[in-house]
Amino acid sequence: MPNIINLLPSHIANQIAAGEVIQRPGSAVKELLENAVDAGASEIRLIVEDAGKAVLQVVDNGKGMSEADARNCFERHATSKIAGIDDLSTIKTMGFRGEALASVAAVSQVQMRTRREEDELGTEIEIENSRILRQEPCACPVGTSISMKNLFFNVPARRNFLKSNVVELKHITDEFIRVALGFPGIFFSFTSNGQEVFHLDKGTLKQRLVQLMGSSYSTKLVQVEEKTDYLDITGFIGKPETAKKTRGDQYLFVNNRFVKNPYLNHAIVSAYEALLPQGNFPFFALYIDLDPATVDINVHPTKQEIKFQDEKLVYAFIKSAIRHSLAQYSIAPAIDFGLDAGIQQMDAISKPFTRPQQDEVRSSNLYKSFVGRNQAHRIESSSNLSNWRDFFDQAPKQQVAEQSSLEQFQPKPFSAFQPEPNNEVPKALGVNGQSSIHQIHLTYIVFEQPNGMTILHQQLAHQQVLFEKFNAGWQGKGMAIQQSLFPIAIQLSPTDAPLLQSILPDLLQMGYQLEPFGANAFLLQGSPADHPSENNQAVIEMILEDVKDAASTLHISYKEKIAKTLARKHAAKAGMKLEEMEMLDLVERLSQCKNNATHFDGKPIYVEVKNDYLSDIFRV
Ligand code: ADP
Ligand code: MG
Repeated sequence: MPNIINLLPSHIANQIAAGEVIQRPGSAVKELLENAVDAGASEIRLIVEDAGKAVLQVVDNGKGMSEADARNCFERHATSKIAGIDDLSTIKTMGFRGEALASVAAVSQVQMRTRREEDELGTEIEIENSRILRQEPCACPVGTSISMKNLFFNVPARRNFLKSNVVELKHITDEFIRVALGFPGIFFSFTSNGQEVFHLDKGTLKQRLVQLMGSSYSTKLVQVEEKTDYLDITGFIGKPETAKKTRGDQYLFVNNRFVKNPYLNHAIVSAYEALLPQGNFPFFALYIDLDPATVDINVHPTKQEIKFQDEKLVYAFIKSAIRHSLAQYSIAPAIDFGLDAGIQQMDAISKPFTRPQQDEVRSSNLYKSFVGRNQAHRIESSSNLSNWRDFFDQAPKQQVAEQSSLEQFQPKPFSAFQPEPNNEVPKALGVNGQSSIHQIHLTYIVFEQPNGMTILHQQLAHQQVLFEKFNAGWQGKGMAIQQSLFPIAIQLSPTDAPLLQSILPDLLQMGYQLEPFGANAFLLQGSPADHPSENNQAVIEMILEDVKDAASTLHISYKEKIAKTLARKHAAKAGMKLEEMEMLDLVERLSQCKNNATHFDGKPIYVEVKNDYLSDIFRV
């Protein structure tokens, strides 16, 4: 028998390894921006064409590279950031694995120009399939410019796996924002298809947040600042009114690195307690700084996960710090501030973690403030206690207001449920005779069939009808548009505006005609003719949430999500009186659906009761 093991050629091995680091344009953005930060740049520019699929370039004014480093940086495990294994516990840079540029060079056509301050000439290098095609001296500014062209040109399977430009651009924007929020002292700019979508001057964290989230946030942020010897927590949390239905705007940084940690997110959200309605998520941008020796960021190649030496302790610190801030700013009542017994009894609090650290922590004010029962978070007389009452007085009113605006939003019977314009009585799934269709409990429609009867849920049925209609709208000529007599302006945050911009053609297809209208605003010129609504702004915002949500789920396209949302919004609700004509029309339209038995959520839409079954029961 011949031997069967081959060593993979290095370019294939590189491509496979690259898949770990560069999954999509967004991951390349993260790596290149972090390299620029590590290089000490004070100005960083990101430029993409075609959502990074055609061109993805990062230009920085950092320390640049020598001629030899410019070649070596593309080798696997080439890094200037660590020399030995011990360095891992003191690492302060964003990168250290020396894999990013090697991966970039394995999956795109790379051109880099770089120059150090001390060199008169820089160097320009071109790489393809991990091989250097060309390197020559060039005149260029101090710093580095790396451009990746035709991402995955040599890995078609991966290229095909990329999602639509809208979704990829959303990932890029997410990564850009995460790095930009980590370093408010650095100027960042982001240009997509020739249009500058972000221009972030250097400034304070608060200024950066307001630049990113919109000026309305300047009065909605609450500062968090707790410094102890073990860890520091700084940053801002949103007042309860910033809460949204998706987790989108939640940023947690550990030593300036964006991390995802559901456990710590829970600490933050739970500190709000009853201030938030169920299923709502507050805004936050929080920065935890602690000794790198007590965290392990080495758990995942894309380095968003993190392990703490003592996670429970960090949890307790965070929760306590947030409560403290909410109380200080009179958003939550101080009286509520007895700490959970659970936290007090945690090992991390009641037992030492390590001897010297324990003493350090014990002596910190924050520790004292949450361990001392009843005196935790006492509000000093200087802070304004009356405000929280206002908050609670307002809360129920706000809810009422919200409800009634929702009610307004529910379509009125005839606007929501317009029978198709032909005047004939439709023949529904075998309905015979005129008075054989009835509405029961304003929810179910019952009608006679030759060998039994059908009971149908009106809301599910109408949702399915509209879902298929909106879904079909993506193909073909789209929805009919009703021009608005008085176009309304829709104001969005600076992060949402580019997202909306990128789906304008899709929205038009759905019957929403929008035009850019100054900074981060759009004018709604027309809406779906068959589905008038009094709160189109809310519909647009829901669509945006769908696009964001779809970006994070693998299997559902954002178009399908939008069709579902619109169907839910515009369908007749249970509890709504339907006229006979409307019922017949609904049944007729349902019968024309591709899936008329099962709702898009997987629920049955109707049940059939056969005469045989009835005669069995009655034994007749
Ligand atoms: P890592 O960041 O983990 O060290 P990379 O592959 O991202 O690995 O980069 C390899 C090396 O190339 C870095 O350690 C750094 O020395 C150098 N380098 C990368 N990008 C830049 C840049 N923008 N400016 C200066 N040096 C850079
Ligand atoms: Mg790097």
